[in-house]
Amino acid sequence: MAFVTLKQILLETREKKYAVPSIGADNHVLFEAVLQQAEAENKPVILMIPGFLLKEMDPCFFEYARLRIIQSSVPVCLHLDHAASYEECMNGIKYGFSSLMIDGSSLSYEENVTLTKRVVEAARPCGISVEAEIGHVAGGEGNNNDGNEVDVDAFTNPGEAERFAKETGVDALAIAFGTVHGVYKGTPKLNLELLDEIRGRVEIPIVMHGGSGLSDEDFRNAVSHGISKINFCTGLFLNTTEAARAAIEANGNKMQLPAVLGVIQKRAREEVSHLFEVYHTQSVDLKNIAHK
Ligand SMILES: [Zn+2]
Repeated sequence: MAFVTLKQILLETREKKYAVPSIGADNHVLFEAVLQQAEAENKPVILMIPGFLLKEMDPCFFEYARLRIIQSSVPVCLHLDHAASYEECMNGIKYGFSSLMIDGSSLSYEENVTLTKRVVEAARPCGISVEAEIGHVAGGEGNNNDGNEVDVDAFTNPGEAERFAKETGVDALAIAFGTVHGVYKGTPKLNLELLDEIRGRVEIPIVMHGGSGLSDEDFRNAVSHGISKINFCTGLFLNTTEAARAAIEANGNKMQLPAVLGVIQKRAREEVSHLFEVYHTQSVDLKNIAHK
């Protein structure tokens, strides 16, 4: 039984200074590629599906996901990313997610607290973790057309982050300190002093969204300054698509679907392996986290 919550899978990250990748995998092809690479390297991994996709997806996918994770040899968390409402979170519970992100970051501070607390109160008795966001990471999820600009005014306020964590009781907190969702416009610059200050005030794991466009050095800095979970989605979609396109062209446009899917899975596994290395992801002994 390797199906764990977000709280469990991030338990040792701060002490041991590593991050666990949270990877967008809303289909069998990517889901299998990510899991197989995690199993090959004996590393923990978080698989995530965005809230807005829930009503479009075949509910049977979640049955497959749950059974596949239970049989996995490594700790795996199934995370609902950016649920926009309480109702979306309740659907996440219904479909068997072990972690929910409620995104009230566009609301006022008080409204964000109220919404997040409601979700925590519903999720906790079910043994499900909750992540929330304070400050706002700019850009739509997966916007890879025009690029998104960083919004300094929406960076997380450290005092608010501390209060928010205490008032809501969330298990992990996403903050804004220089990343954007989707493709980055301009050169990214992480505010590591701000991250240090937030990390000093907040005891729960801190999450970074919108890593596309960052260098490996940026990621290593973010992890060494206390980031526990890093979301990765747009980069995976773009890079696997590019690998498929290049392979099809290299084969005189005669490649057939199974071979194309094989190229996508191979590239996805290489990406995941790279994330494990850059995030310094450590193997987790299930015995240490099972009863937390
Ligand atoms: Zn995000």
